[in-house]
Formats: sequence, structure tokens, C-alpha cells
Amino acid sequence: MVVWRVRIPKFQVCATCGKRKPASAFYVRRNYKFHIKQIQSDCKVCFRRDARKRRKAYKLKYPLHHFAYRSWDRMKQRAKRFNLPADSKYYNKKRFLKMMLQQEMRCGCCGKKMNLNYGRRRRITVDRINPRLGYVKGNVGLICMRCNRIKNNATLKELRLIRRYMLNAKRGCK
Ligand SMILES: [Zn+2]
Ligand SMILES: [Zn+2]
Repeated sequence: MVVWRVRIPKFQVCATCGKRKPASAFYVRRNYKFHIKQIQSDCKVCFRRDARKRRKAYKLKYPLHHFAYRSWDRMKQRAKRFNLPADSKYYNKKRFLKMMLQQEMRCGCCGKKMNLNYGRRRRITVDRINPRLGYVKGNVGLICMRCNRIKNNATLKELRLIRRYMLNAKRGCK
């Protein structure tokens, strides 16, 4: 059994803002090498603000990596919300990044160039090819938002019916 020595002072001066704060205003950090429980040198407020800054800088520097991570995160959230299985170990950030590069940022459906712009029609979205199967291996594709919206949860039969309907209407116009 590992015995943790605790070295937490009642008060500490934050290394960033310089304010003297009680121990509860700092996150506890475990030093696994020496088995010591310490508190961070930055207070919670400074640490959180800097974390946000770090994330922002990362997003600017590596937009694709950031997007791939977000896609993975969102996939897990959606799987949970709709009670669907998700191979989140297989479809991880690395996999999404690889898929994006493999299809050269082109939609797996219409072939048009996709982008990362939130709310735009060519934004990359994660698609469950068969919606009912969830995010299992082989059932996930990257397609543009436009295609994903049209596809929604339609079955092949429904799409065929829509096609027939549109073709009939077109003939009627002549
Ligand atoms: Zn501080
Ligand atoms: Zn598309």
C-alpha cells in the first residue's frame, strides 16, 4: 500500500496572481514519484483561466487535431444521449484525423470539399451510416453537414421514394 505524505499549507501565495489564498483555493496534485500530495502553485482561478487560454492556443495552432478531438467527444455524447453503442476506443481522435486526411477533406457522400466552419453546409460531420447500429466499427463515415441533414435517419427505401417523387414532379413540369 502506498502511503501518501500530505504537504499542504493552510495558506499559499498564487504564483500567477500573487494573492494569498487558503489551501481550498488550490487544486491538489499528487506527486507520484515521491508520493506526496501537494497543492498547485497556481490558484484554481488562474489555473482554469490558463487552461482555457491553452485550449484556445491549441485550437489556433492545430485546428484539425482540435476538430478531431471535438468530433470524438461529440460522438460519445450523442451515443449516450440516444443510448447507442460507440466504439470510442476505435473511433478516437487519431482515427478521425486519419479519416479526414484519407478522404482529403472531401465529403464521403457528395465528394465536395469540407471545412471546419461551425454551422456551414460543408462542415465535417460524423455520420452513422446505418443510424440504428450506432458508432460501431465500419458504420461511421465523415460527410458534409448538407448531406447529413438530407440523409438524417432515412432508410434506403425512403430515399428511393423521395427520388421517385422528385423525378415524377420534374416530368410533370414539362
Ligand atoms: Zn491566482
Ligand atoms: Zn456532402
